[in-house]
Amino acid sequence: MNAVKVIGAGLAGCEAANRLAQSGIPVVLCEMKPKKFTPAHKYPGFSELVCSNSLKAERLESAAGLLKEEMRRLGSISMAAAEVSKVPAGGALAVNREEFSDYITEKIRSNPLIEIIEGEVADIPEEGYVIIATGPLTSDALSKSINRLVGAEYLYFHDAAAPIVTAESLDRSLIFGGSRYGRGGEDYLNCPMNKEEYQSFYNEIISAETAPLHDFDSAGDYTVYEGCMPIEALAKRGEDCMRFGPLKPVGLTDPRTGKRPYAVVQLRLENNGGTLYNLVGFQTNLKFGEQKRVFSMIPGLKNAEFARYGVMHRNTYLNSPEVLDKHFCLKKDPRIYFAGQITGVEGYIESAASGIYAAINLSRRIKGLDEITLPRETMLGALSDYVETGSRSGFQPLGANMGILPELSEKIRGKQEKYAALSKRSLEELEKAIGGRYYEDNR
Ligand SMILES: Cc1cc2nc3c(=O)[nH]c(=O)nc-3n(C[C@H](O)[C@H](O)[C@H](O)COP(=O)(O)OP(=O)(O)OC[C@H]3O[C@@H](n4cnc5c(N)ncnc54)[C@H](O)[C@@H]3O)c2cc1C
Repeated sequence: MNAVKVIGAGLAGCEAANRLAQSGIPVVLCEMKPKKFTPAHKYPGFSELVCSNSLKAERLESAAGLLKEEMRRLGSISMAAAEVSKVPAGGALAVNREEFSDYITEKIRSNPLIEIIEGEVADIPEEGYVIIATGPLTSDALSKSINRLVGAEYLYFHDAAAPIVTAESLDRSLIFGGSRYGRGGEDYLNCPMNKEEYQSFYNEIISAETAPLHDFDSAGDYTVYEGCMPIEALAKRGEDCMRFGPLKPVGLTDPRTGKRPYAVVQLRLENNGGTLYNLVGFQTNLKFGEQKRVFSMIPGLKNAEFARYGVMHRNTYLNSPEVLDKHFCLKKDPRIYFAGQITGVEGYIESAASGIYAAINLSRRIKGLDEITLPRETMLGALSDYVETGSRSGFQPLGANMGILPELSEKIRGKQEKYAALSKRSLEELEKAIGGRYYEDNR
């Protein structure tokens, strides 16, 4: 059997290599460390956690806890590593990052089905199956090859993302639907501000604390792209700048007053299921706590639940809804899969989980078995569905959050009870979807 080439021994690449080997498929795992490091990687071992040592919340009634449980059930090597390297962290699963990496490195290196090749891969192999898992800091040479393969317009190098909030957390009594000048139906939700509300918001946003940028992030120079300017930077240019920019009220009439508001924050639908909205023009580098504090001042967002906070950082990722299918396979060349952050999932565990999913389906294809599509009720199924069906114009990476799961058929009042029910349903659906099928490709 020909070996599958996995490029990148990060979180996704190691999961993919491990999963393929579990299925008896030989793997050539190519990693440029320690010969060459990205600006964020420092440790020679595989699956390096480049920043925080936390794999987020552990309790099952949380999105991250649920995803981790799904990963355990899918045989995740990262979850096994976390088990042996965990350190006390309250309700979170945090690890000793060196021990975490060492465990995975040793398991991968000692696997007789996995051959390691050290060195940067500059070109996408022209033959055989390939999984590209080179992460948000994919080297320049390989990025150029990916660019040529998918088309320059479908590979992004910066993530200037606005926050995303869950639909159910919005106060609709203060918000009205409708597009500017009545064009396009009720595609947008509008949060109207009067003069006092706008001025209080302006005063807070200009003094809110921003997150520090890494050198390699600031090298991107966001100011080059006026359209990507952080909202707080725009606000600092002058009191009316936001009102003449993304918060302009033109073409909008508040049905409650019959008048044009002083300023309007628009929310745009983010996913097919209609459960998420993004704040239009609100790409930001404010600290997460500050985003919650300041953006909750927007009428209708007082109790908003943030499925994702805004970020400004270097991030190589695909416009996946254009180029990938829900199994992370390249539509135009089914020989090639992508996994990890480069697909538009965001976060350590999400990246790792996507590596498992891509490898399960690739190994089944190699063995002539039907592919497994995880239902949207599972966290991993919902994430891969987002990657396939997210907004094609302005696709933004997304991490696990309860807002992407379909609503429950019955209404449950308390948040914890609701999340517990969502998790229970996810795990039941996962068992139904994989059941014995997951193990049949292990033969
Ligand atoms: C600075 C920074 C901080 C982050 N902090 C967090 C955080 O705290 N929490 C969180 O959940 N997520 C965080 N993320 C997001 C994301 O979860 C991580 O980047 C995660 O490691 C992505 O996993 P991955 O497998 O896609 O890529 P990676 O884990 O980055 O793995 C990619 C691997 O590919 C290798 N590689 C790259 N190019 C080539 C090439 N051409 N040839 C061969 N090998 C190559 C790299 O050396 C690396 O080992 C952060 C991202 C960045 C950039």
